[in-house]
Amino acid sequence: MRKKIIYLDHQATTPLDPRVRRAMGPYLDGKFGNAASYTHAAGREAAVAVEKAREEIARLIGADAREIVFTSGATESDNLALKGAARAYRGKGRHIVTLLIEHKAVLDSCKRLEMDGFRVTYLPVRKDGRLDVGGLKSAIRPDTILISTMFANNEIGVLQPVAEIGKIAQGKGILFHSDAAQAVGKVPVDVRALGIDLLSFSAHKIYGPKGIGVLYVRKKEPRVRLVPLIDGGGHESGFRSGTLNVPAIVGFGRACAVAREKMKEEAARTTWLRNRLRDGLIQRLPDCVVNGSQEHRLPNNLNISFAGVEAKVLMDRLRSVAVSSGSACTSTSVEPSYVLKAIGVSEELRRSAIRLGVGRFTTVGEIDRAVQEIVGCVKRIRARRKAA
Ligand SMILES: *Cc1c(COP(=O)(O)O)cnc(C)c1O
Repeated sequence: MRKKIIYLDHQATTPLDPRVRRAMGPYLDGKFGNAASYTHAAGREAAVAVEKAREEIARLIGADAREIVFTSGATESDNLALKGAARAYRGKGRHIVTLLIEHKAVLDSCKRLEMDGFRVTYLPVRKDGRLDVGGLKSAIRPDTILISTMFANNEIGVLQPVAEIGKIAQGKGILFHSDAAQAVGKVPVDVRALGIDLLSFSAHKIYGPKGIGVLYVRKKEPRVRLVPLIDGGGHESGFRSGTLNVPAIVGFGRACAVAREKMKEEAARTTWLRNRLRDGLIQRLPDCVVNGSQEHRLPNNLNISFAGVEAKVLMDRLRSVAVSSGSACTSTSVEPSYVLKAIGVSEELRRSAIRLGVGRFTTVGEIDRAVQEIVGCVKRIRARRKAA
């Protein structure tokens, strides 16, 4: 029998929560209507389900349901926020400020905009992975139209000072977008309180289905304008045309409702498990380095380097634990992480970094077995290196 894998890669994706699956079921079967078909009951039934989900999703981030635009995922939401805002406000200015450690969906959108004549400032972060707010203030120019900073980093889990950034952006009348794919459902996110105008997130990071995401687009003070990426039919207030994926949206809504109800308890539990994992490794292995702030961090994330151990070699040896390096992997090597580089981690320790993410269904038994297996592998790899 194949041994059950201990899944510790919850930053990459999460399993579907059984409650989410149950909510989706009827919409994969009999309730197949098109939410844009108002001429019959099947369509109206789908539309009602979509609007209920929209409300659940909005509630989780302190938004109004009319401010929720469905997309195919956080990648598309980031593209729509950056390209859509840049193109809508190009008459006002052509300068954008973002972080060096953003997800590729933001960085590559910025690169594309640079080819179209926009200017982008990529701000560095401090050694702990957080933005120095003073640096942001000095990067702002009269032609700055948009600030885009992630809520929590996908590799090191570090939380940005979003409230401070929001205050600065509001004070200057600059739009503020945040990629919150890692943060929503794990830490409180309130777009009103934080002064956020655009927020991206995705269902599959919070125990919902893959291929469905959201862009929150502020409707009041200011009413944010965007040039859509996809035209045709005018769905989603014209921001994103295309027939809605009703079952996925229903699942997303349920995932948000569960996240909202369980957030506090789950954050406490995952923090405890994550700390047990971290301490178990650090206590049994010399020369480990935890990367990124330990204080301003997602509850479930650990990023750790084992000196002298290539992450690629370690990951190949791990039989029953699923982890990631957090950055792009090729068949022969781990692409050195630009996030770890930006926080000043040496080349050697970058190559030996792994990312571990515990989740809703992770058990203490799994954590203890994972520690045992990782410790064993690291020791064997180091011993072989010494002998060679
Ligand atoms: C996962 C992730 C994305 C991409 O989300 P998809 O829904 O998979 O497109 C973007 N940004 C961050 C920070 C992420 O963690």
